[in-house]
Amino acid sequence: MNVYDGWRIAAMLEHRGMTRTENVSDADIIILNTCAVRAKATDKVFSALGRIRRAKKSSALMGIVGCVARESGADAFRRVPDLNFVLGPQSYHKLPEILENPDAKLLNIDLSGLEKFDSLPQMVKSPTVTYIPIQEGCNHCCTYCIVPYTRGREISRKFDDCIRDTIHAAKTGAIEICFLGQNVNGYKYTDENGHTYRLSDLIQAAAKIPEIMRIRFTSSYPTEMTDDLIEMFKTEPKLLPFLNMPIQSGAPDVLQRMNRPYDLDQYIGIINKLRNARSDIQISSDFIVGFPGETDSDFEQTVNIAKQIGYINSYCFKYSPRPHTAAALMPNQIPESIKSARLATLDATLNEIQRDFNESCIGKTLSCLYEGPDKTGRHLVYRTPYMQQCIVSRPDNDTMIPALAKIEITAANKASLRGKFVE
Ligand code: SAH
Repeated sequence: MNVYDGWRIAAMLEHRGMTRTENVSDADIIILNTCAVRAKATDKVFSALGRIRRAKKSSALMGIVGCVARESGADAFRRVPDLNFVLGPQSYHKLPEILENPDAKLLNIDLSGLEKFDSLPQMVKSPTVTYIPIQEGCNHCCTYCIVPYTRGREISRKFDDCIRDTIHAAKTGAIEICFLGQNVNGYKYTDENGHTYRLSDLIQAAAKIPEIMRIRFTSSYPTEMTDDLIEMFKTEPKLLPFLNMPIQSGAPDVLQRMNRPYDLDQYIGIINKLRNARSDIQISSDFIVGFPGETDSDFEQTVNIAKQIGYINSYCFKYSPRPHTAAALMPNQIPESIKSARLATLDATLNEIQRDFNESCIGKTLSCLYEGPDKTGRHLVYRTPYMQQCIVSRPDNDTMIPALAKIEITAANKASLRGKFVE
């Protein structure tokens, strides 16, 4: 979502005749697009601002947008007096106001809903993988999570607007689209005639667009994985066989304290339905270790469920207490040293599963999407349907680089695959 927001901000400024620079001392405006999910991300913003204010031109405007802006509000101006603007994740379309009035201190952390989507110019050229936001905010209120506070209550965009953006993306270069939302599979829009649209309707409509060859969506909440959506994995070949569906923990009482109201049987039941719909589907998860009150045996259950489900490509995090969340006030906070040890153990397990899965791909031919040259320029980077990175040798002639290619996998390690073009 932040990557998407960053694109829109860049497009908005380019539309006004500005160009990008990688060099802080050249910039006329410096914008930090920020994440507040864990404390470390927030701390990094303020240390980066300290570095930037020393390196920038004195006339340059500097500010923060996104969730840290919403979290800190006016306090950010007290911490960094030379900040010019602080704009929350739903008000970054107000950025031009600071260009018109550079001496002001611009603060807007309102949760204005969907206004930003419709007040921004469309991108002239879309990346091959284009994000289409369909839903913003979250109503789940997991007790660790700051997102309902920073991005607000859940709201779904109009079906027609989502499809209009998807068609625009397809006509301007997109081959893969990724529907985005904090609770993407909770997408629900009812039009003036009382017709309700779900994510499965969006997938079906997008699959009819010839230029779009691959469809995915993120992030999913387990109990919103309804049968109509699961069915899409059976009936829509353009829907990639890969799904991020975070479990967070494998211990029932931890899940309960997290306010994740599903039990393990229910979660495994959903996984089984998905595998029945599409036998080659792979699942990834997010995990939090060291949630308040997590015992050694709770943690063991998390490691066990990770192995049992065989998640590929997962993320795990040490629990980070956040303002405006219930878990920050819970008793039995876990010491940092235990969190670090658990993180290392779970990471090792997840890495092993990922390496095994990558190695199991050797000899298979996968349909992969071109991403760009690697750092050396001698190789090309492709993405498999499971979002693995696949490296192939660069052909002699760049006109022979296909956007979508059949690649035979020849080698694998934990981080990536190697392959060669078939045909
Ligand atoms: N549903 C959202 C979740 C965003 S946060 C989305 O993906 O859009 C992504 C992940 O960060 C969560 O799944 C969770 O595993 C982790 N996370 C959220 N709050 C956290 C916290 N306070 N401490 C540690 N990890 C956290």
